[in-house]
Amino acid sequence: MENDRCIVLFSGGIDSTTALWWAKEKFKEVWALTVVYGQRHSLEVEYARYLSKLARIKGHIIVEIDFLKRVGGSALTDDRMKVPKGDYPPSGTISTYVPMRNSLFGVIAAAYMETLGVANLVLGIHSSDIPNYPDTRPEWASALETLINAGSSLAFDRKIRMKVWTPLIGLKKPDIIRLGLNLRVPYEYTWSCYSPQDDAPCGECPACIQRAKAFQAIGMEDPLLARIKKETKEV
Ligand SMILES: [Zn+2]
Repeated sequence: MENDRCIVLFSGGIDSTTALWWAKEKFKEVWALTVVYGQRHSLEVEYARYLSKLARIKGHIIVEIDFLKRVGGSALTDDRMKVPKGDYPPSGTISTYVPMRNSLFGVIAAAYMETLGVANLVLGIHSSDIPNYPDTRPEWASALETLINAGSSLAFDRKIRMKVWTPLIGLKKPDIIRLGLNLRVPYEYTWSCYSPQDDAPCGECPACIQRAKAFQAIGMEDPLLARIKKETKEV
């Protein structure tokens, strides 16, 4: 049995925001779920909050978990580790990978799916991330789908099978932005930087570099930088 409700795992970055706007076209009722997990800066959560208002969706669930910071092992959660500079390496897990983060997020979303009666989970994972983040691979997404159905009362009692959607899986960053522009994604309010300085992107971390290259590839100024530039002039 299918239903027309979904939850989108939502960080406020380019990918999950594009996935959110995609989901608005596809499903009748859309929820966004943002997890505050002890990441270095809370700016991305503020952006996610604002974007979910712009998206006019059913609701924005914000979940706080504090143990990933204690687990450590990632430049995003462990203050002793430095956020790397420069582009992503061609292959291998990068230090900004957070141990089991996406698996945890997927299971948290599934818990809400059970109580809200939502059968669809939308993830913004995509091809540019696959060489460096093991938990963005298609085999991970399908394993997550198997796991949440195996443990869920939705499937067990109500015969509702949860489906994991990955609309960006075959796409690289520039293609994602092209798709998003068609969907009218307000990229001026999306946040990518791992290491912001004075509420502006650092311009040096892998997320900033990848973002800059993607907008360059489609011949467009990054709307976020354009907006920040304009607002700084106005102050
Ligand atoms: Zn940055």
